[in-house]
Amino acid sequence: MNDLPRLNADGRGSSRKHDTLSASEAWLAREGSAMGRVHQIRFYPLVVARARGCRVWDADGNEYLDLIGAAGVMQTGYGHPRVVKAIREELGRVHSTMHCCYPSPTSIALAERLKQSFDSPWPTKVWFGTTGSDANDCLAQLLPLATGRQRLITFEGAYHGLTSGSAALSGHSAQARILGGGHITKVPYPYCYRCPWGSEPETCDLPCLRFIDEHILQTVSPGADTAAVILEAMESDGGDIPAPRRFLRGLRELCDRYGIWLVFDEVKIGLGRSGTMWAFEQSGASADAITVGKPLGGGLPLSAVIARSELLDQDVLMLHTLAGAPVACAAGLATLAVVSEEGLLQRAALVGAWLQDGLRELSNRHQCIGDVRGMGLMVGFELVEDRQTKQPAPLLAARFVYRCFELGVVVLYCGLHGNVIELTPPLTIGEGEVAQALEVFDRALADVTAGRFDDGKLARFSGW
Ligand code: PMP
Repeated sequence: MNDLPRLNADGRGSSRKHDTLSASEAWLAREGSAMGRVHQIRFYPLVVARARGCRVWDADGNEYLDLIGAAGVMQTGYGHPRVVKAIREELGRVHSTMHCCYPSPTSIALAERLKQSFDSPWPTKVWFGTTGSDANDCLAQLLPLATGRQRLITFEGAYHGLTSGSAALSGHSAQARILGGGHITKVPYPYCYRCPWGSEPETCDLPCLRFIDEHILQTVSPGADTAAVILEAMESDGGDIPAPRRFLRGLRELCDRYGIWLVFDEVKIGLGRSGTMWAFEQSGASADAITVGKPLGGGLPLSAVIARSELLDQDVLMLHTLAGAPVACAAGLATLAVVSEEGLLQRAALVGAWLQDGLRELSNRHQCIGDVRGMGLMVGFELVEDRQTKQPAPLLAARFVYRCFELGVVVLYCGLHGNVIELTPPLTIGEGEVAQALEVFDRALADVTAGRFDDGKLARFSGW
C-alpha cells in the first residue's frame, strides 16, 4: 500500500501493514472475547497505546493525527502539561473523597469557577456528575419537580445520553430502541440543509419555530404544562448542525411567553469548542440551565449542570458517589485555565474557519461533499450521492473514514443518515496539522470515489 510517510513512536518512519494481523487487531480480538458489543461503535481497527497533543499511536507504533479528540473530550490535547500536573498534584493531596458527605476544596473551587462562566439573569448553582448522560438525567428528573410542570420538549437527532432519563430526552436513532418518556415531545431540529419544511435559508421565516408555537404548545405539550425546551446549540451526533441564531433567540422569546425554561446541552460543543466558552452565548439567548461534560474533566469522568438555583436547591436527593471527584475537578480547573489563558477560544474560532475554508475548497473538486458547516472546532461535512437530490452517502462515508485511517488520520462519521464526517480535534491543533488533514481528505475522497477501496475491510470492522 502506498501510504503517506509518517513517524512512529520512536520518531522513525513506519510503513503500515494492514494485510497481516496487527497488534491492534489482536487486542480487538481479545476485547471481543472479554466485552460486549453494546459498548462498541467501530469504524476501523485502532487500539490506542499512546497519545500526545493531537496525535495517537496504535498498538503497533503507527502514528495518527486524531481529529476526533476522544469525541470532543481532549480540548487541550492529550497530555497537556498543566492538566497532567494538576492531576498529579491532586492525586498526591486528596486522591478521592465523596463530595456529598465531605467535599474537597478543589471541587468547590471548580463549582465557583463554573458558576462565573456565563452571565445569567438568575442566581445560579452547580451540580456535579460523572458523564454527559447523568447531567442530562439530572435535568430530566429535576426540571418537572422544580417547575411543577410535567412536559418537556426536545429535538429529533439529539443525543443527550444513554441513562434512562437522558435516553428518553434523546431523539437520535441510537436511543430509538430504548423506550421511555411519554411526557417528552420531540420536534424537528432546524436542519437547514435538509429543512423538513423545504425552506431555503435566504427566505426562511422559521416554520420550525412556528410549528412549536402554533402546534406543539397548543396541543400535545401545552405551554402551561411544559417545564423546559432542551437542545444543543449545534446538534453534534445528529449530524453537526448549527441552529440558526435567530431560531435560538426566537425560542427564548417563545419560552419567556409561557414561562418555560430554555436549557442547552453543552456536553460536546461547550467549554470553548465553539469559539466562545458556551455555544449558546453566540445567539444572544439566555439559558436557564446548561449541561457540561466531555472536556470538563480534562479526560477524567466529570460532568456538571449549571442552572437557576431553584433547580438545584430542591428538597430531594440527586447525587452520585464519585461525582465531583477531586482529581477530575483539578483536571477541570486546569482545563478551564488553559482554555481561557492560552487563547484557545480564539484558536477554535480561527482554526475552525481555516478548516471550513479548506473543506469548501475540496468541495470544488469533490462533488460528493454536499455541505460544510460548523461552529469553531466542531466541523461537519456531509457526503451525498448527488448534490441536487442530496441523497445521503453513508457507505461512501464509511469507506472514507476507513481510508483516512489507513492514511494516518482518525475521523468518524455521524448523523441520522450516517453520512456526516465529524471533526472535533483538540483546540490546540496546529496549522500544519490542518493542512495534513486536508491533504489526506483530498486523497481519501479521490480513492473512495474512484472505487480504489476494498469493502471487505468494512465488513470486518464496522458492520457494513
Ligand atoms: N450530550 C451530548 C450533546 C453528547 O454529545 C453526548 C455524548 N455523545 C452526551 C450528552 C452523553 O455524554 P456521555 O456519553 O458522556 O454520557
